[in-house]
Amino acid sequence: MVIGIRRTPQARALRNPSMFRGIVKTAIALGLTSFLVAVTSAVHYRPRAEAAGTVADEPALVPEATSPGVAVSNSDLEQLRVKNLLFPISGFDMRRLHDAFDELRGGSRRHGALDLLAARGTPVLAVEDGRVARIHNSVGKGGLSVYHFDPTETYCYYYAHLDRYADGLREGAQLKKGDVIGYVGSTGNAPPQTPHLHFAAFKLGPEKRWGHGVPINTFALWAPKPPSG
Ligand SMILES: [Zn+2]
Repeated sequence: MVIGIRRTPQARALRNPSMFRGIVKTAIALGLTSFLVAVTSAVHYRPRAEAAGTVADEPALVPEATSPGVAVSNSDLEQLRVKNLLFPISGFDMRRLHDAFDELRGGSRRHGALDLLAARGTPVLAVEDGRVARIHNSVGKGGLSVYHFDPTETYCYYYAHLDRYADGLREGAQLKKGDVIGYVGSTGNAPPQTPHLHFAAFKLGPEKRWGHGVPINTFALWAPKPPSG
């Protein structure tokens, strides 16, 4: 009995030099085409969020400075530096940190905060110990947001546009540095396609009202150090 051996086209090609060359040429042509397509799309594809690095259509959410006696100075920034604040988003690529503090939003109002772009649902962390002073849904502005007083109740941290709060978060609760407060989202006036954390630190007035104070630019606390040398 003779058993027929079926040869695959590849096997036949290997035995047929001109067919083999044809296959090699086709493969090279296909490879070159996909390479060119990849290069072209890399040049043209600029994700909106990364390219802009900002959220320009989000009006300012900064609490108004309502305490005329309150002023912030470099010593406030130093106070915050000494606290060694935790960055509020773990795993954040610090090269993407952008100083949006002085940008104007919604006309002439200074933004007074950082916009930290991250995937929806990324945990938002308490930058230090303290207490939850206020859980607030600011419709059309900061959306689901949290006001966090530092232990001395001199400063307030503001986390806005959350997708949702951490389970069990409640006003008055004590926070430990690194506790999950909520999750990155786009509630309020954040562009739906650009989930981010709007993070602000501000100095409270003597009345210690959660929505009132003078913003402090925390960018310098976390800005990547320029390469030395
Ligand atoms: Zn913002």
